Amino acid sequence: MAAQVRVRFAPSPTGYLHVGGARTALFNWLWARHTGGTFILRVEDTDRKRYVPDSLEDIQESLRWLGITWDEGPGVGGPYGPYFQSERLALYHRYAEELVNRGAAYRCYCSPERLARVRQERQRRGEPPGYDRRCRYLSAEERARLEAEGLASVVRLKVPERGTTVVRDLLRGEIAFENATLEDVVLLKSDGYPTYHLAVVVDDHLMEISHVMRADEWISSFPLHALIYRALEWELPTFVHLPMILDPSGTGKLSKRKQKRADGQVADNMTTVREFREAGYLPEALFNFIATLGWAYSGTQEIFSVDEAIARFELEDIRKAPAVFSYEKLEWMNGVYIRALAPEELARRLVPFMAKAGIEVEAEALLPLIPLVQERLKTLADGPSYLDFFFQEVEVPPPALFIHKKMDLERTVRALGAAREVLAQVVWEEEAIETHLRQLAKALGLKPGHLFQPIRVATTGKRVAPPLFGTLYHLGRERVLARVDRAIAALKRALARQE
Ligand code: GLU
Repeated sequence: MAAQVRVRFAPSPTGYLHVGGARTALFNWLWARHTGGTFILRVEDTDRKRYVPDSLEDIQESLRWLGITWDEGPGVGGPYGPYFQSERLALYHRYAEELVNRGAAYRCYCSPERLARVRQERQRRGEPPGYDRRCRYLSAEERARLEAEGLASVVRLKVPERGTTVVRDLLRGEIAFENATLEDVVLLKSDGYPTYHLAVVVDDHLMEISHVMRADEWISSFPLHALIYRALEWELPTFVHLPMILDPSGTGKLSKRKQKRADGQVADNMTTVREFREAGYLPEALFNFIATLGWAYSGTQEIFSVDEAIARFELEDIRKAPAVFSYEKLEWMNGVYIRALAPEELARRLVPFMAKAGIEVEAEALLPLIPLVQERLKTLADGPSYLDFFFQEVEVPPPALFIHKKMDLERTVRALGAAREVLAQVVWEEEAIETHLRQLAKALGLKPGHLFQPIRVATTGKRVAPPLFGTLYHLGRERVLARVDRAIAALKRALARQE
């Protein structure tokens, strides 16, 4: 029987959760749920210089928002804790010592100044950067003398100078690295903290991780990790390096830097889960979309549920080729998920977005309006621009906005005046409003749009708004007439100025 699947997401709290990180978490989580295994959240907080205080909270909140829950880790504990690397220092010390004793690592006493000099010189000579291994070849006496001086030291990995280190990635097969290209990297720093290389190997081993699924940027560290495993005579887990995520142009890694969008606008790319959440994306849509970055549910079906993804997720199906992050596709997917929501649910989810736009409204008050907007919303953040005029007064827009391109100001005022008469008398039902306004357009010899545009602008303050008759109906006769009257007055003033 195969061993229990134990997988981990191991973020460093150095920033908010990036969609690439979310993809790593998601694939690990899917694999755990598919196999009935365990998904672990481990916090790799050993780089104190890059620590961002609220990032840990953001990472956990963003994961929970996406529905990615962990079985062991912060907040839930577990038998392999602690799950913060900063609380596991004694373990790293023990294994650093063990590596030194086994002759696979050594203490290095070089000062930061000397290391900087070495770096400069190597650069000058056109050699690859790195350490010149001076301390690796200290005699026993020299070593004892430096120890006696009480100099601060680090522990470095003793990389074989010749030959190759061959590692195996589940997707890529065997990869051979020339040892001559590898560095004697630091494993334990002089401040007593481990580097990533030591901590990740120790923890993946002690936490009995069965599969290491992580970003492809770690492939270059893979041989170093393999050397540590082998030196400690530990069995390697299965490694799966996930495909890179490219920006929409497909030319570079997805990043924040400004991008020209399809609509010609230049804007910062959204890259963190929090940004997508605040921009009105649904967690289920982002989940679905992220799952397609390097994995396909099937050749044709792009929309799938969490349960479907869990049922079908296989490591062998993860692609090696980079995945392009298409904002357009995500927006489309979000629209699909918005349309699939129950109206009550959509109303509930719109409430905070209305509030952010300054409109305090309860879900019950939004509910009757949902049929007007559900088909149109691409994100929840679109809500206020479609619905604000139901909850706040509108300013009368400039006359030009009222006038259809085939109309002029005078005819527009007259048409709006006639519409006012109809709206004052018609039975207040959506269908009746429509029928009578259409009849009016005909009677005035106007195309419906010529008449509807000024009515729409008068009552909503915009040219683009939800369907007109439902909008009028829900605004109510009183507000409709008041707004139309104000518009007529403003247009008449404009007309008087013209004459
Ligand atoms: N702490 C590393 C990161 O944030 C984890 C890499 C790994 O999964 O091994 O990228």
